[in-house]
Amino acid sequence: MRQKRFFLTEDQIPTRWYNIQADMRNKPMALKHPVTGKEMTAEDLFPIFCEECSRQEFNQTDAWIEIPAKVREMYTYYRSTPLVRAYGLEEALDTPAHIYFKNESVSPVGSHKLNSALAQAYYCKQEGVTNVTTETGAGQWGTALSYAAKLFGLEAAVYQVKISYEQKPYRRNMMQLFGAQVTPSPSMSTRAGKDILTAMPNHQGSLGTAISEAVELARTTPNCKYTLGSVMSHVSLHQTIIGLEAELQMQMAGEYPDEIIACFGGGSNFSGIAFPFMRHTLRDGRKTRYIAVEPASCPKLTKGKFMYDYGDEAGYTPLMPMYSLGHKFRPANIHAGGLRYHGAGVIVSQLIKDGYIEAMDMDQIEVFDACTLFARAEGIIPAPESGHAIAATIRRALECKEKGESKVLLFNLTGHGMVDMVAYNQYLSGNMINLPLPE
Ligand SMILES: *Cc1c(COP(=O)(O)O)cnc(C)c1O
Repeated sequence: MRQKRFFLTEDQIPTRWYNIQADMRNKPMALKHPVTGKEMTAEDLFPIFCEECSRQEFNQTDAWIEIPAKVREMYTYYRSTPLVRAYGLEEALDTPAHIYFKNESVSPVGSHKLNSALAQAYYCKQEGVTNVTTETGAGQWGTALSYAAKLFGLEAAVYQVKISYEQKPYRRNMMQLFGAQVTPSPSMSTRAGKDILTAMPNHQGSLGTAISEAVELARTTPNCKYTLGSVMSHVSLHQTIIGLEAELQMQMAGEYPDEIIACFGGGSNFSGIAFPFMRHTLRDGRKTRYIAVEPASCPKLTKGKFMYDYGDEAGYTPLMPMYSLGHKFRPANIHAGGLRYHGAGVIVSQLIKDGYIEAMDMDQIEVFDACTLFARAEGIIPAPESGHAIAATIRRALECKEKGESKVLLFNLTGHGMVDMVAYNQYLSGNMINLPLPE
């Protein structure tokens, strides 16, 4: 057998998200107001985010949060996603390790991002919001939000990092197909964008510049809320549907993962797959390795510092206690656009500080080598972001082979790469280079 897939029936799909904050001994430190530096509460976020997400952001007491019925219904459009035993990859590596992956690429928009987009659009609609705005890098989050907004009858305005807007027209087209208005960032449509372009007319854009613009739009437009596809704790919360499903599916497979591996941009998919398993580590001391994999060109976990930093370039977002390369950091233009972010979420940052999570960085050529091996073994062309998790899993599987260890490895396949063929073309034509962080 080359592959085995595990699914849940509709009534087995979890009905609650897991809020790890409730189980953390050291809670994440407070967010601070960007101007006054004062500790913030949920109410302070209301002008930017919808109220329910703001409350979830600060919820450190409820371990379980009900998934609204309407969101659950929309989850069933594509959930459960398959948990796959990757026999093909095991065979290709000739490893005694058991390799599993959770395939989030089967969502209608091709990535895990929809898990939170549906929740955020739902809460906005409930609260009488008519317009949502956001930023997007590679275009994955923008696509997910555009689709979710359309499902709930909201207007979406997306600021897309200029370099991605130009290099990845297909994602821009997907957002436009779902009815969103897409603007390349930095743009002249906001104060923040104008300031950046005045200082640096050739700025290629970053998630930071796009966040600044979207937040400004939300603050200055009535009935318009900002939404975010990563970094924030409420986004990680919504993504726990991944790990909660995976836990049940691993039970069906009769195994429990020794190591959980996920790529790391702002931390949402890592949190999503890891936190439900980590609750057994926090509550019962279960020993599991949790490995976050970031690009060598944007290594906030392995080379960044724990500090209070802004989430965006202009300094509009709250100050967050997190591992960061500094909010002015401009990452090299690697193909895994979804991992080009300077900071890490506050929950993950605290857990790294407390020694629960390991971090690993990966060069882009090793990532594409891994993507190629995976595509040939499993028949799925992965997103370059997901390729980081695949590359790390392959490293670990080969180490298992060397030591003759039969570990159970579980990684998250966050998305497919069918809209990333420009990157694959560069790789196949031998023109790809590594872009490590200069010292
Ligand atoms: C956005 C994205 C990521 C990285 O974001 P996280 O919040 O760190 O999960 C990874 N893979 C894909 C396909 C993405 O779209």
